[in-house]
Amino acid sequence: MLAIAAHPDDVEQTCGGTLIRAAEAGYRAGVLDLTAGDMGTRGTPELRIEESDAAAKHMLLAWRGNVRFPDARLENTLTARMTLAVKIRELKPRVVILPYWTGRHPDHYRCAEMGYEACFLAGLKKLDEYSEPHRPQKILYASLYADVKPSFIVDISAQFERRMTALLSYVSQYGNTSEGGDLFPQEGEIRERLAAIARFYGNQIGVKYGEPFVVKEAIEIEDVVAMKGRSI
Ligand SMILES: [Zn+2]
Repeated sequence: MLAIAAHPDDVEQTCGGTLIRAAEAGYRAGVLDLTAGDMGTRGTPELRIEESDAAAKHMLLAWRGNVRFPDARLENTLTARMTLAVKIRELKPRVVILPYWTGRHPDHYRCAEMGYEACFLAGLKKLDEYSEPHRPQKILYASLYADVKPSFIVDISAQFERRMTALLSYVSQYGNTSEGGDLFPQEGEIRERLAAIARFYGNQIGVKYGEPFVVKEAIEIEDVVAMKGRSI
């Protein structure tokens, strides 16, 4: 499973619990960050990458990389798509997680578009002569910050604390300093906010904490009698 995200610390908020859960189940989970947050008010790109490596350990990731595209001005160019496609061919994920395709930050919806197109390119036999074609089977859109009905919700009750610890590895972003002023919630505030959001989604499937996802295609169910969740 590979999550592709615009900024270090994005996956820790949107789909980290699902990555941890996959790792705990024995799958190889990885994250490819597209930028190092060089336009961020706090910290430096080097520090953000260091912090993201620490977060990766908390999330039990088998791999984490950063392609260092320009932050806050991510562009869906042919070069960028090819870079991502080659990474996908190398890593061969069966499932790719992308940010939801609309949102406030242009990097997020651009990442969704670039990620989708790179997954397509990665499956083309004649893309290059050096790597084997590989196309992920599923693309999941992490919709935590999008005001849309999820296609499904993953129970992350047992992974929530680990995800929180991973997020707090970004001391430059969430530590208690006054640089950046009101933009950066302090640790207690961020914990309360993320718990409330995870609780909101968990509540929809009758568990404590959840992470929501949207898929564009219909989902096949093997056994409708064994389907989880209550309709009434
Ligand atoms: Zn972001």
